[in-house]
Amino acid sequence: MDNKLMLMIPGPTPVPEKVLLAMAKHPMGHRSGDFSEIMAEITQNLKWLHQTQNDLLILTASGTGAMEAGIINFLSPGDRVLVGCNGKFGDRWGEVCDAYGLQTERITAEWGKALDPEQFREQLEADKEKTIKAVIITHSETSTGVLNDLETINRHVKAHGEALIMVDTVTSLGAVSVPVDQWGLDVVASGSQKGYMIPPGLGFVAVSTKAWEAYKTAKLPRYYLDLGKYRKDAAKNTTPFTPPVNMFFGLQVALQMMQAEGLENIFARHKRLTAASRAAVKALGLPLFAPDDAASPAITAVAPAGVDAEKIRSVMKKRFDIVLAGGQDHLKGKIFRIGHLGFVSDRDILAAISSLEATLLELGYEQFSPGAGITAASKVIAEL
Ligand SMILES: *Cc1c(COP(=O)(O)O)cnc(C)c1O
Repeated sequence: MDNKLMLMIPGPTPVPEKVLLAMAKHPMGHRSGDFSEIMAEITQNLKWLHQTQNDLLILTASGTGAMEAGIINFLSPGDRVLVGCNGKFGDRWGEVCDAYGLQTERITAEWGKALDPEQFREQLEADKEKTIKAVIITHSETSTGVLNDLETINRHVKAHGEALIMVDTVTSLGAVSVPVDQWGLDVVASGSQKGYMIPPGLGFVAVSTKAWEAYKTAKLPRYYLDLGKYRKDAAKNTTPFTPPVNMFFGLQVALQMMQAEGLENIFARHKRLTAASRAAVKALGLPLFAPDDAASPAITAVAPAGVDAEKIRSVMKKRFDIVLAGGQDHLKGKIFRIGHLGFVSDRDILAAISSLEATLLELGYEQFSPGAGITAASKVIAEL
């Protein structure tokens, strides 16, 4: 049906009408006092969302740009880095490190499994010479729906003492607590089209004092993504280059909405949506791709047996106007993913699960009793 599409992919995520309307205004001059006022409010609220007093920089870039900025501003060619690779995004950060000539050491886990913090501990403890300059982790691995144990891995990084911890929080920020200051995270990168409830186009990086120390001697080339420029200008509530000002209008409203809901409520909602989705999928007899103790709060990946994942996605879209994500790389056709990140409510999950049941029946998959999924999801929603 026209204009009825419901996005349940892990990004871009749905955008509230209030935010869309805020963006539908004439742009303003980005060197104006009015713009600086908006930027000051946004920066303050972004720090609130990141639970930090660190510098919070806003880039005109997607999440990859924010993460690349984080990697290139604090390191030098040949620096030794440990990169956690257990999915598409972890692999990407390995590629970025390779592209910039770092000495990249990958700590891997099978796609669908969490990274093992012990492997980080062993490498970091063995590094008596302190040659490891950074540990780079994807917190929520969107390609598989796995949440890596950042808290424990970070504890090992802190015990090492020298290495910076750099984190892709693109699908964890705004879904689960990422206490940047409490954990002492040095570089924290994210993108607007995920937990922020606004369209794609902005990247965010939180930078610690320790990372700024490394910046002074870091030698990788940088210009547009030179975070020092953004830091200097952010102090005056402005940006080095023309920002997408209408995105800022939207972000201002989205952050106000998040503040009204409250951090704890936002995290509780994502926890509930995740638990409801997982309970429903189990009740439908479909295997979950990520284990219960490492479930991403943003995305539930399902590896259906006996029914084609791409057919499920196709019927969901054609008959019910619900867009689910497919698998990436070698998981194409093997899994589908239900996004529940950002502006997603209990009602959206109930709609998705009941539509999924109808889709399965239409495809002749009958290894569940009709209503089992929706019953399981409803129970979770009633209890959590
Ligand atoms: C979406 C996403 C990114 C960023 O991808 P872009 O297309 O560059 O915005 C990075 N990491 C994770 C985990 C993501 O989900």
